[in-house]
Amino acid sequence: MSIFESFGLRKVINASGKMTALGASAVSDEVADALKQAAQDYVDIDEMMEFAGSVIAEYTGAEDGCPTCGAAAGIAISTASVITGKNLSLIERMPDSEGLKNEIIIQKGQQVHFGASIAQMVRIGGGKVVEVGNANKVEADHIEQAITDKTAALLYIKSHHAVQKGMQTIETMMKTAKDNNIPFIIDAAAEEDFKKYIQMGADIVIYSGGKALEGPTSGFICGSKEWMEACRKQYKGIGRPMKIGKEGVAGLIAALKQYPFKEDNAEEQIERMTKLNDSLAEVEGLTCSIKQDEAGRAIYRAQIQVDASKTGISAPELLHRLESGNPAIYLRHHYVNVGILSVDPRPLLKGQEDIIANEIKNILNEVQS
Ligand SMILES: *Cc1c(COP(=O)(O)O)cnc(C)c1O
Repeated sequence: MSIFESFGLRKVINASGKMTALGASAVSDEVADALKQAAQDYVDIDEMMEFAGSVIAEYTGAEDGCPTCGAAAGIAISTASVITGKNLSLIERMPDSEGLKNEIIIQKGQQVHFGASIAQMVRIGGGKVVEVGNANKVEADHIEQAITDKTAALLYIKSHHAVQKGMQTIETMMKTAKDNNIPFIIDAAAEEDFKKYIQMGADIVIYSGGKALEGPTSGFICGSKEWMEACRKQYKGIGRPMKIGKEGVAGLIAALKQYPFKEDNAEEQIERMTKLNDSLAEVEGLTCSIKQDEAGRAIYRAQIQVDASKTGISAPELLHRLESGNPAIYLRHHYVNVGILSVDPRPLLKGQEDIIANEIKNILNEVQS
């Protein structure tokens, strides 16, 4: 029995992705061992944070790094760091940034909700969000013209949650930042390339430890030594109520060390999702295909188009039935409003694709009988 079942909680089949609401990632034995060993021992935390910074540096190509309890904390901590630098009195004053350079410029189509609002995370760090342009169209001029002597940083959100069309590119926004001598931050929470944005020249890049990295509940920031020292110092300020413990840091380090050895399993994903689709192909009213991730990551999901006039049940109803069962089956539902459900193969344990196919068929049989 799983620990969650021993609590009397329902078993969850996660075909949805690295969702905080479902516990983000299930970690490897190596990462779990690191969590356990660290939890049962003591360490000088400052020393460990510096060491973790050096490990983050090694795996990102940045000069230094700062562990966090998640990417959301990474946004708050980086925001505070560009406002306060390493000045302890200012650090202890956050999030009250009255009179300081505190404006954080964000393109309107990227001012999103990832489970919580980006803008709120910025405000927690003492930042004042300056939204530029329109939800579906931002011009370079909008960004340039929003810069004032109060601008603390430009923040780019690289995410499938953001509007993908009509936004200014990372390159354009970064050039504007550099021309104006303003730090450029990228929230790359769910991205799987931990070197790309540092290589492109971003000053500060934020990642989640529980998403592509498949680590424990954690995150990290990477960038120049100056900024990362300022970030780590925030743990004497706004970072304190979002601290990552020794076990989280140890698990994060283990996950980083393991990441380069992770196999590219695109073929296996496609194979498993093809099997699922084949099994559903006979069902009247379901049209199945395989779609690559909309943000271009190496994720291949099964896409199930539900024709309610033939199945007798709409996509939202089917989703609801799957989620309320036991085991609870969670599919990806970004496009449920247009009748599409997706199965994400990454978090699925072995054979769970068969359980999903069977359960969908069971529900449709029930509806149609
Ligand atoms: C998931 C996500 C976050 C938050 O990451 P956590 O590690 O869960 O705190 C922040 N920004 C974006 C764009 C995300 O997708």
